[in-house]
Amino acid sequence: HTRDFSFSTRPIHGKVGRVPVGISRRRMRIVVTGGAGFVGSHLVDKLIGRGDEVIVIDNFFTGRKENVVHLFGNPTFELIRHDVVEPILLEVDQIYHLACPASPTNVMGTLNMLGLAKRVGARFLLTSTSEVYGDPLQHPQKETYWGNVNPIGERSCYDEGKRTAETLTMDYHRGAGVEVRIARIFNTYGPRMCLDDGRVVSNFVAQAIRKQPMTVYGDGKQTRSFQYVSDLVDGLVALMEGEHIGPFNLGNPGEFTMLELAEVVKDTIDPSATIEYKPNTADDPHMRKPDISKAKELLNWEPKVPLREGLPLMVNDFRNRILNEDEGKGA
Ligand code: NAD
Ligand code: UDP
Ligand code: UDP
Repeated sequence: HTRDFSFSTRPIHGKVGRVPVGISRRRMRIVVTGGAGFVGSHLVDKLIGRGDEVIVIDNFFTGRKENVVHLFGNPTFELIRHDVVEPILLEVDQIYHLACPASPTNVMGTLNMLGLAKRVGARFLLTSTSEVYGDPLQHPQKETYWGNVNPIGERSCYDEGKRTAETLTMDYHRGAGVEVRIARIFNTYGPRMCLDDGRVVSNFVAQAIRKQPMTVYGDGKQTRSFQYVSDLVDGLVALMEGEHIGPFNLGNPGEFTMLELAEVVKDTIDPSATIEYKPNTADDPHMRKPDISKAKELLNWEPKVPLREGLPLMVNDFRNRILNEDEGKGA
């Protein structure tokens, strides 16, 4: 069901998806927008590792070359510095669209990637977000829930941008017959996560390593469900390769208050770590937890790494990067 633009004559051996060992599968050419970012770079590692050709499109807005530098020189890897808000012509089989221009919305980038998918007949996967549910009135959240989003709030640019991206994706599917997939990603953490974008896991881990108090916003009783990045990448690939459009929630149903998260970080990194309360941001969702029964049933996917096992896996990466930063400052 994918068209051959890769002109590759080299078959891939081994176990890939449902193809049994010894039977060859054609190498695919796959675009990953935002592939120099946190999630994207782990996805690229997996796709290259199974033998496919990957083109990363990234403008390094929040991504870093360091995340993919180990692939430079690999003939199956290509990196294009490009803003997806501008059109681009490529010949590919699949598009994983992760690039998310923060401002004003990600709508233009999504439109261009859908236009590309339509032109070349590629399958298109959108990384949407649990934020489409807003401050949810249903708990846990099922894919059938339409959400509770403030259209004029501080976070609505991101939320509404992703909701519009989902709408465009479904319109291209219905109107132009593009093969599409939609993932709604819940809070994800792991190595290569941005150090300074203010997410709670990266903040707490960096603060504990730097011997600073962990900043708990509000009363710390709001909840989130934290997914380790390798589980997400497995889910994204299962979704892309499967027969179902979605949307699918991809997240770990283990639910924690921010105070509980702080405890886990404390146990993992520094038993003497302290917390400090700060005012919360406006429209902060009170609770969030995915109902993943749909992905379990139709994608045969569920997360494997609980928080207490996943957190230690990002600590070394964070320690090294914080050390390098400090050395860079002459500290
Ligand atoms: P990230 O910021 O690490 O990665 C995004 C990448 O896109 C970066 O490398 C950035 O440089 C690139 N980019 C941004 N604007 C671009 C543009 N206009 N043109 C080209 N490249 C551009 O973020 P991430 O956590 O890896 O998120 C990846 C995707 O998953 C995003 O679409 C995000 O909305 C979605 N998501 C992530 C989470 C999470 O918890 N990490 C949760 C929900 C949804
Ligand atoms: N586009 C792109 N690469 C392609 C095909 C399209 O970047 O290979 C862009 C194109 O410039 C347009 C958008 O995708 O801005 C939507 O394309 P589509 O063909 O659906 O819309 P149209 O050009 O007909 O308005
Ligand atoms: N948060 C916090 N301390 C921080 C950063 C965030 O207590 O240093 C809280 C934030 O108020 C929110 C939760 O952690 O309730 C998750 O925030 P994050 O930005 O990581 O993800 P999102 O709100 O997008 O789910």
